[in-house]
Amino acid sequence: MSIIVQKFGGSSVADAEKIHRAARRAIKAKIEGHRVVIVVSAMGKTTDKLIALAQEVNPNPPKREMDMLLTTGEQVSISLMAMAIEASGHQAISFTGGQIGLITDSSHTKARIRSIDADRIYRELDDGKIVIVAGFQGVTEEGALTTLGRGGSDTTAVALAAVLKDSVCEIYTDVDGVYSTDPRIVPQARKMKEINYDEMLELASLGAKVMHSRSIEFGKKYHVPIHVRSSLTDTEGTMIVAETKGMEDIVVRGVTLKKDLARVLLMGVPNHPGIASNIFARIARHSIVVDDIIQNIVEKAKEANIGFTTSRSDAKEAATVCEEMAKDLGIRQVEVEERLAKVSIVGVGMKTHTGVASRMFAALAEAQVNIQNITTSEIVISCIVDEKDGERAIQVLHGAFSLDQPENGRA
Ligand code: ASP
Ligand code: MG
Repeated sequence: MSIIVQKFGGSSVADAEKIHRAARRAIKAKIEGHRVVIVVSAMGKTTDKLIALAQEVNPNPPKREMDMLLTTGEQVSISLMAMAIEASGHQAISFTGGQIGLITDSSHTKARIRSIDADRIYRELDDGKIVIVAGFQGVTEEGALTTLGRGGSDTTAVALAAVLKDSVCEIYTDVDGVYSTDPRIVPQARKMKEINYDEMLELASLGAKVMHSRSIEFGKKYHVPIHVRSSLTDTEGTMIVAETKGMEDIVVRGVTLKKDLARVLLMGVPNHPGIASNIFARIARHSIVVDDIIQNIVEKAKEANIGFTTSRSDAKEAATVCEEMAKDLGIRQVEVEERLAKVSIVGVGMKTHTGVASRMFAALAEAQVNIQNITTSEIVISCIVDEKDGERAIQVLHGAFSLDQPENGRA
């Protein structure tokens, strides 16, 4: 009998009624003959509230204690979900991450899963129960509670689907699938019937807030098909899979906008071996996440300009760190530009098509959007633009690649 892992996000279990709705969905799958595992997030904005509370008590809370605190959110949801299922006359049992042997490494607040004890889950399923597992959490070998990073319940769900044989993973959320771009900005955005793991990974890291990136990596590695769908309706959502139909023909699958970016520019950097490594080692030591790095050679290769983008919230600290090292390393000047955005086009078909970049640049030019930096990878082309141009940029790109047309896997 096949197993369905159903994951319900915070908004889908935000109150008693929603918990009952989710419970009914699980029961329906059970009655249809599946074995059902549910993964739940903390109710509504619980995790945000707990983080805010911690900040009030201690602006720099110990990470171990953060995990101790945050894991309580999911523990509330699993117990209530089990009660809701029992209230409808069906059998259920809830487990924390530790109770199903979800072992992680010990990097608190961003732990990685090492193993899961599927036997415990099989035993309860064999007993006819719906098994409910707390998302986002695990334990170390030593028994300390850990969490998997914000949004980590997705990863719990996909990881469970990976270890449970013959299973599929359904992610229930407050949107009805993955769209060609953000429908709040581009009303012509279309829901995709399917998308491949690599494209989804890029969309997620480029600002589409649909799923936790780590969960897609897991899906890709263990070949878990993931169905992203609405918790409110029965309509089919988007399947995330390894191979989509006509994959090569779809040049651009989605367009993304990442706002709140800043760029730190180091000008007049002495150009000799080891300098970049020195600069970025210092930045990493301050846990500043660097997005793109741009280097130009100037002054007959004696000097370079090195710029990098980072989130705006990290910009001040990044600038301070750079000012300090400017003195030590003989860097002439440090400049910060705060109001930037990144627009990107994503599609595996780019690997085999030419002229994609020029189409993108032409569309932006026509819309009078100035491109400040360009970065490319095999399946992505990104441009850094002024933040005020960001929304207009994705509108024109969406049109320029005909993503508003119902074809190529779009519904
Ligand atoms: N409750 C956690 C969070 O809000 C995990 C999750 O929702 O996936 O980040
Ligand atoms: Mg959540």
